[in-house]
Amino acid sequence: MTAISTSARPYVARLSTYQPGRPIEEVARELGFDPREVIKLASNENALGPSPLALAAMRDLAGRMHLYPDGDCFYLKQALARKLGVREDQLFLGHGSNEIIALLGHIYLEKGTNLVASCQAFVVYKLVASLYEAGCVEVPMRDFTHDLDAMLAAITPATRLVFIANPNNPTGTVVDPAALDRFIAALPPQAVCVIDEAYIELLPPEKRPDSIAQVRAGRPVFVLRTFSKAYGLAGLRIGYAIAPPEGVALLNRVRQPFNVNAMAQAAALAALEDDAFVVRTRQMTLDGLAYLAGEFGRMGLPFVPSSANFVLVKTGRGREVCAALQARKVIVRPVDPYGLPDHVRVTVGTQAENEAFVAALQDVLAARGVAP
Ligand SMILES: *Cc1c(COP(=O)(O)O)cnc(C)c1O
Repeated sequence: MTAISTSARPYVARLSTYQPGRPIEEVARELGFDPREVIKLASNENALGPSPLALAAMRDLAGRMHLYPDGDCFYLKQALARKLGVREDQLFLGHGSNEIIALLGHIYLEKGTNLVASCQAFVVYKLVASLYEAGCVEVPMRDFTHDLDAMLAAITPATRLVFIANPNNPTGTVVDPAALDRFIAALPPQAVCVIDEAYIELLPPEKRPDSIAQVRAGRPVFVLRTFSKAYGLAGLRIGYAIAPPEGVALLNRVRQPFNVNAMAQAAALAALEDDAFVVRTRQMTLDGLAYLAGEFGRMGLPFVPSSANFVLVKTGRGREVCAALQARKVIVRPVDPYGLPDHVRVTVGTQAENEAFVAALQDVLAARGVAP
C-alpha cells in the first residue's frame, strides 16, 4: 500500500460502490452474444429510445461542443418554469437527479445525523448517507408501499432528510396524495423531505400528487425529477429539483460551475416540447404492464401492481432466475440487495421485448421444474 491508500480518510475505504445494471455490450461480450440480440430490461430505461425532438436538437448542437455550457441553464429553467408553473429561482438542474441526491447529502448530512427512508427504497439514498458518514434509518414498508406513519415515527432529533420515492423504485408503488400532504405538514422542524418523482410523468395526470404545491407553499421540500425515464435521456445525465428558493440557493453553493453539459441542456429543452413522445411512452408502459400482469397471473407468479415502468415479480430465487434469463439473452435486475431475494425487477419494454422476456422466463421456470 502507498500513500494513495494510507492517506485516504479511513471511512472512504469502507464505502461500497453502486452496482449498476450492466451495459448490454459487457454482458454480450462475456456470454459471446451479439449485443443486438440482447434485451435489457434492467435499468428502467425508455424502450422507445430518446425523444425524437431531443435527438434532432442534439444533432444540431454537436458542432458546438467546443464551447462550455450555460452554467445557469437559463433557457431550460425558463421552459421548465413555464411548464411547471414555478419561478426560475425554484429550479435547480443537476447531472442526473442522482447528483442532486448527493448534493443534498453534502448540504444536510454529516457524522451524527441521519436520513430516513424505506427498507426497499432506492439504494442511492443509503449510499449517500454513508458518503457523508451519516446514519440511514430504514423503515419497513407496508404492502410494498411507504409506511408514512412509521416513517414519521422513525424521525429522530438527528434526522435531516426523509426520502420518499413516488412512485417508488424497486416496488413501483405510490403513496396516497392526501397522506403525503399530511406527512409533510407533520414533519418536525429539523427534517427536510425529498420527494423523488423519477417516474411521475408515467402516471396519468389526474393521479399525480401536487407536490409542487408544497414547494409553492414554502414547505421544507425538494421535489426531484429526471429526464432519464419518460423522456428517454438516461445517457445524458440530467435531472432537476423543484424547491423553495432558499433550497435552490444552497444547492447552487455546492455544485460544480458546469454540472449540466450543453448537449443535455439542449436535449432536455427539446424533450420538454415533446408531449407526443411522453404520451407514447405512457401508453407503451400501460400496455406493457397490463400484458405482464396477465402473463404473471397465468404463470401463477405474485407481482406488485406498478405505477412506474417496471414490475417486481416473485419468481423465487431471484439471483438464479436473473442469471438463467441472462443466459437466454434477457437482462433483468435481481433485488436481493433490497432484501427481496425471491423477486426480480423487470422493466417494461416494447411488446416484442416483453414477449421475449415472458418466453424466456417460462423456459427458466420450466427448466427449474419447481413452483416459486
Ligand atoms: C431512475 C431513478 C432516478 C433517476 O436518476 P437520474 O440520475 O436522474 O438518472 C432517480 N430516482 C429513482 C428512484 C430512480 O429510480
